[in-house]
Amino acid sequence: MSFTVLGKIPTTEDILSLYPMTQELALLKERRDAAIRDVLTGQSDRFLLVIGPCSADNEDAVCTYTERLGKMQEKVKDRLILIPRIYTNKPRTTGAGYKGILHQPDPEKEPDLAGGLVALRHMHIRSMRESGLTAADEMLYPENHTYLADILSYVAVGARSVENQQHRLTASGVDQPVGMKNPTSGDFRVMLNAIEAAQQIHIFAYQGHAVKTSGNPLSHAVLRGAVNKQGQCQSNYHYEDLQLLFQMYQERNLQNPVCLVDTNHANSNKQYAEQPRIAMEVLHNRRLSSDIRQLVKGLMIESYLVEGSQPVGGHIFGCSITDACLGWAETRDLILRIAEEV
Ligand code: PEP
Ligand code: MN
Repeated sequence: MSFTVLGKIPTTEDILSLYPMTQELALLKERRDAAIRDVLTGQSDRFLLVIGPCSADNEDAVCTYTERLGKMQEKVKDRLILIPRIYTNKPRTTGAGYKGILHQPDPEKEPDLAGGLVALRHMHIRSMRESGLTAADEMLYPENHTYLADILSYVAVGARSVENQQHRLTASGVDQPVGMKNPTSGDFRVMLNAIEAAQQIHIFAYQGHAVKTSGNPLSHAVLRGAVNKQGQCQSNYHYEDLQLLFQMYQERNLQNPVCLVDTNHANSNKQYAEQPRIAMEVLHNRRLSSDIRQLVKGLMIESYLVEGSQPVGGHIFGCSITDACLGWAETRDLILRIAEEV
């Protein structure tokens, strides 16, 4: 094979023994997991915000951001549960560009996967300790889920992965809620098929073992907009889209038929500044329709310290090197507005 072996990757045991969870953090996660579960199962009418940068490219900037989010959580705790996005892997449309901290702990240096595993676990634990919040990450490489399984409170399967068998089967054994994004083509059935697959028990090969999963009743939909054959973005957060998803859920026998709406990506046509308007439209539609209120349990928002984006090497602290994000001032205002209007 035309592969050059560059080195061994640390095992899950290696990485966990380097940065183990403390009892205090495990309790925090248990409390937050239960609160998030209550929202998705309809026991609580709080609203979820999965919010943070497109990619967690810099530990100091990410932890500065999540610490601010932790302070906001206190202010809105009766209405909202804030789940920071700490995304350590990035899917790339053409394969080119920054692939996340797992591959490049320093975005300006050569890939270093062993160093990346250490860096991503260190960042997640530090953020949890300093912010009091447990985070979301994208499961881009299912085999790597065990490096963070004891830490995460939310897992996303991205638009480019949602049709993949290994993602679906692994999601069926994940203990956290798994948000299945609609595929870039926009077909709701693909997303619902992924949810159906993840809610079932499976036996398959994982990390060199035959394994059996429990099924994940908390796998659910995330609407992120679509792209048509001309490459144009087609949003799917409007009243009719939500009604359609509600109906399509009715036609299947799925547990917890709920969704989050991603306000960026193809829903904003990558116009990050549109996110507050989109969030408000979704909240408005939740007020108009009890079905939509029951369906939409939260939003996913891309936000960082400094608004917009920059190229790798731009060196603006807390400005995204992948998708453009809202800045902190707009983020703070938006969180307060959502808490008022939800
Ligand atoms: C993301 O959440 O940053 C992302 C890449 O999402 P999607 O899979 O919807 O493109
Ligand atoms: Mn993004």
